[in-house]
Amino acid sequence: MTEPRNLKKLIAEMTLEEKAELCGGADFWHTKGVERLGIPAIRVADGPHGLRVQKQADDHLGIYMSEPSTCFPTAAGTASSWNVELLREMGAALGEECQAAEVGILLGPGVNIKRSPLCGRNFEYYSEDPYLSSRLAAAFIEVVQSQGVGTSLKHFAVNNQEHRRMTVNAVLDERTLREIYLASFEGAVKQAKPWTVMCSYNKVNGEYASENKYLLTDILKEEWGHEGFVVSDWGATNERVKGLAAGLELEMPFDAGSARIMESVQKGELSEEVLDQSLERLLAVVFKAYDSKKADAMYDRDAHHQLARKVAHESMVLLKNEDHILPLPKKGKIAVVGELAVSPRFQGGGSSHVNPNKIDDILSELAKAAGEAEIIFSQGYKLAEDAVDPPMSLEAVEAAQKADSVLIFAGLPERYESEGYDRTHLSIPANQLSLIQEIAAVQPNVVVVLSNGSPVELPWLDQAKGVLECYLGGQALGSAAADLIFGDVNPSGKLAESFPKKLEHNPSHPYFPGEGDSVEYREGLFVGYRYYDSKAIEPLFPFGHGLSYTSFEYSNLTVDRYDMLDTDTLTVRLMVCNTGSRAGKEVVQLYVRDVQSQVIRPVQELKGFAKVELQPGEQKMVSFTLGKRAFAYYNTELRDWHVETGEFQIIAARSSRDAGKSLTVHVTSTTTIKKTFTRNSTIGDILADPVARAIVEPLLKQNAGVQEDDSDAAHVSMAMMMDAPVRVVVAFSQGAVSEEMVEALLNRINEQNQSS
Ligand code: BGC
Repeated sequence: MTEPRNLKKLIAEMTLEEKAELCGGADFWHTKGVERLGIPAIRVADGPHGLRVQKQADDHLGIYMSEPSTCFPTAAGTASSWNVELLREMGAALGEECQAAEVGILLGPGVNIKRSPLCGRNFEYYSEDPYLSSRLAAAFIEVVQSQGVGTSLKHFAVNNQEHRRMTVNAVLDERTLREIYLASFEGAVKQAKPWTVMCSYNKVNGEYASENKYLLTDILKEEWGHEGFVVSDWGATNERVKGLAAGLELEMPFDAGSARIMESVQKGELSEEVLDQSLERLLAVVFKAYDSKKADAMYDRDAHHQLARKVAHESMVLLKNEDHILPLPKKGKIAVVGELAVSPRFQGGGSSHVNPNKIDDILSELAKAAGEAEIIFSQGYKLAEDAVDPPMSLEAVEAAQKADSVLIFAGLPERYESEGYDRTHLSIPANQLSLIQEIAAVQPNVVVVLSNGSPVELPWLDQAKGVLECYLGGQALGSAAADLIFGDVNPSGKLAESFPKKLEHNPSHPYFPGEGDSVEYREGLFVGYRYYDSKAIEPLFPFGHGLSYTSFEYSNLTVDRYDMLDTDTLTVRLMVCNTGSRAGKEVVQLYVRDVQSQVIRPVQELKGFAKVELQPGEQKMVSFTLGKRAFAYYNTELRDWHVETGEFQIIAARSSRDAGKSLTVHVTSTTTIKKTFTRNSTIGDILADPVARAIVEPLLKQNAGVQEDDSDAAHVSMAMMMDAPVRVVVAFSQGAVSEEMVEALLNRINEQNQSS
């Protein structure tokens, strides 16, 4: 163990110039050091589904080649595993690769919410759901960091599109910010304590994220207790001094602001204490990374490739499997069609692009797994073009016709989705669309194997018996897909996002990507399934959907109490049984629904999940723990999470659209919201308050003509009365009630309410 350093003393020994300069990067991939004081520089590198260490030419857009590393499936896929343990295994491998490449901080994971399927970077993000996203990120961060390598949770915050990402202002209300967009970061920050957080390029409610004190200091550092430092996304710094004061410790890639920092301190505009505090945070992480370096670290490439294969198995989602077309029998003739089978798309474009140390050849992997089956390949379409190549597609159709079944490899070419821009539609290229349709016209046994980083529309779905969504499956895509297609491994992935029937159904659609430099999140809380479920719109494939070659039955949903306080925890248990004939893994999802609420809430929200492995006939109990946050919404008046007293349904389901098993518990809030009533408060609101009701009700009956009968007239007059402000009592009482009397009454109510 290295002795803890006295950072304050070290900082006191630095000149103002040295201090200011440390607040910016030395180059694309290094922090600065101060040799005379023994302050080291550390290396940072992109990822996080692999490692992008550039030793020659540098860039942050994935243009120049990097050193070879293991390319795992990207986050869109790994999220579909819903497997926290698997994310941990992958994190451990990446930690090892970072150590071997002397990387002190891995720049990821990205937990931005998938607001629209069009976002060009969705392949790098986990989910449309903040709970799932933050749980997976936390697992990954914990393990990478346990290897002595830091992480950089990114892009903080509300960076949900690439269009104008460096200037756009994301405008959203506080509840949406807290419950959806920040929650994805919050869980990971609190649970896993990332050494660094990367602020995003965009503005949030009018302030650049890089100089947003509310986000960087008030929420991240003070409320959530983040102890590490904040690094700017590459080039995200706007006003360096303002950023520093707001909580941005490190500017990357180059130091462009140190002269201004110095000047501001000299002029007394920025206190040196603020600078010192930033340095203390920065240096604590730099030394932690430096001290954690493992000499002569190495890793086993083959073992990591096998791990990439294992991760890919669970990252793929079997979307459709009519007539049990999959797994394919290991005999007969199988046509494999599509250039994507020979030019696989297994990762995305931009800064996360890694140089894989090995790439599985899909055709030979299929042949290996196919046993006695004969595999015939036909290109079918040109990946580089959208237009149909008639002789090429004809050849593929003929090959498909002669076979017993056909595997069509389809999806998005690289140019369709990348960091830096968004898609404008959800279609795959025209040549692929028509090929699928032509083949389906002559061959009933069609399985489409998709490679894409984000949902696509499937207008041909009825014509394909099987659809396997591989997402961007990493360097072992070929072997992993072959394992699933021939049933050597049972699919167990489930969607971490909804697939809409068409783009227009997506809730953000009318508002995405905004007008000029402004994007308003007008759909509010209703992102993904929260919208489809609340509006009863049937998605193409719901959030949480994924098939298996076996079947699972749920039974015995129990809770340890039916009545609880919001300070208690609830243990939920469910029995899951594998009722089929193959071993398999099931993802049980736990949704919570506030049965009746005074505030606008989605129909249900994911609050727990568990993945369980079962042999045929085996059953296991899975359990979940729900605390206050599972029932709460963010109350903007309290500026805190709040549970409304009442009933909550607990639903254990196979997907967001599965009725599953459910039961109801009663939760009592321990926080009383003290209301202050005015003459413009409605009578209904006043009567809903128990203290006020006791005082007001008798008076109302006497003075406002409320009839105590069951006639229609009485109902109408009562309904109108409920929504009327209390001041109208004066007007309707024919002189019996004065303004002064109402005021005195309100004072009485407010005083009693405050003291109760
Ligand atoms: C990306 C970041 C990345 C950084 C460094 C930026 O363009 O937004 O995610 O970590 O470059 O390459």
